Amino acid sequence: MRIYVESYGCSQNQGEGAAIARALSNGGHTLVSGPDGADVGILVSCAVIGSTEARMARRWQAIAARVPRVVVTGCLVPLRTSVLTGPGRMRTTFVPIREQSRIPALVSDWVLEPPEVLRASVPADPSVTSAPAVTEEVAIAQGCTSACSYCFSRLARGRLESVPIPEVVRRASEAAARGVVEVRLTSLDTAAWGLDRPDGSRLPDLLRAVAEVPGDLKVRVGMMSPQTLGPILDRYLEALASERYYRFLHLPVQSGSDRILSAMRRGYSVEVFRHQVERARARFPDLSLSTDVIVGFPGETEADHRATEELIAAVGPETVNVTRFSPRPGTPAAHLRPVGPRVAKRRSRAMAALRLRLSRARFERWIGHSGPARVVEHGPGTSSVARLPNYLPVVLEERHALGSTVVVRVEGARSTYLLGRVEEAPF
Ligand code: SF4
Repeated sequence: MRIYVESYGCSQNQGEGAAIARALSNGGHTLVSGPDGADVGILVSCAVIGSTEARMARRWQAIAARVPRVVVTGCLVPLRTSVLTGPGRMRTTFVPIREQSRIPALVSDWVLEPPEVLRASVPADPSVTSAPAVTEEVAIAQGCTSACSYCFSRLARGRLESVPIPEVVRRASEAAARGVVEVRLTSLDTAAWGLDRPDGSRLPDLLRAVAEVPGDLKVRVGMMSPQTLGPILDRYLEALASERYYRFLHLPVQSGSDRILSAMRRGYSVEVFRHQVERARARFPDLSLSTDVIVGFPGETEADHRATEELIAAVGPETVNVTRFSPRPGTPAAHLRPVGPRVAKRRSRAMAALRLRLSRARFERWIGHSGPARVVEHGPGTSSVARLPNYLPVVLEERHALGSTVVVRVEGARSTYLLGRVEEAPF
């Protein structure tokens, strides 16, 4: 069968989409790059904010108009499937996230009529990303332990269920054996890994086991909450010292105001976040930091907003992901009085401008740096993207073999990447 998979959202969701595609391909199905001519379309959906949900509805309609059968999985299922309305609904099967492993069997059982609904050719969504073959997401857990008052992901993905160490090691080893050179360990909160395990093992134990996987593999540890990182910070930084790991920390702070953090039910203070960043940078001076900020949370005053700007300016992360608050059905924050849309928009623009200025300044510090980088992507034209040991991307003009390591000299900086040239041939 010809199958089209389209994935959205965070790296965990994208990774789940890639895993579904791999399982289908291993089962003898053919993966195609667009819905036209496909027998089955699979939408791996995201529901993080209202505008994303609306986009999912549009993509589902576009796919359902072109394929005989559709599978929708990801975070819309089961709580938000009501946003998908239209004639394609009868031909759509909803599969909850924790049941994705049954998709290959489900699809294989279908006997399809000739696709009478095929229409004029329409390109696939150009913004959809598909993981290159040399990088791969490995989910280390499903769900989380937190109770953030705004978060829909927590409702969609449920309580924490950590993947046992031997299984994570098996998945990483298999990926390495297939030629993958970069694994991204994903979860809603990687620092929560193990909190549901009776043996007391925690993320540093998992990382030590993954460090032993044979092969030339680099590993990025994904997003973690300051709340769950706190008790394991020292052991975590120790585990990260292995050459196996990128010196990278994704630590979403969300607000620079303790009052708003409390309303968000994040379970830590601004000071805790600052302390963790200081400790991580003291241990790894070249560490790259990524954080997330929610702008316009209900009750956010100008003073709260300024506090967030001041925190971000003082800490200077390499990357700041800015999201405007969007009330999500079923979450406690949806019942709070919202900040006016004009105010939220103004604050969001101001934060985005600050983010770009800061990132550019942080990236410019790398101009003149010379050192190894791993080629993980082919970009537009003949360009390649290589990652420094701290995960910062360096765009190179020429094509280099995916997975190769090159010595680069950084010659320029933009606000989201570095520009460089290769000083030494791949090794
Ligand atoms: S966990 Fe959140 S960001 Fe990831 S796909 Fe689900 S709703 Fe989107």
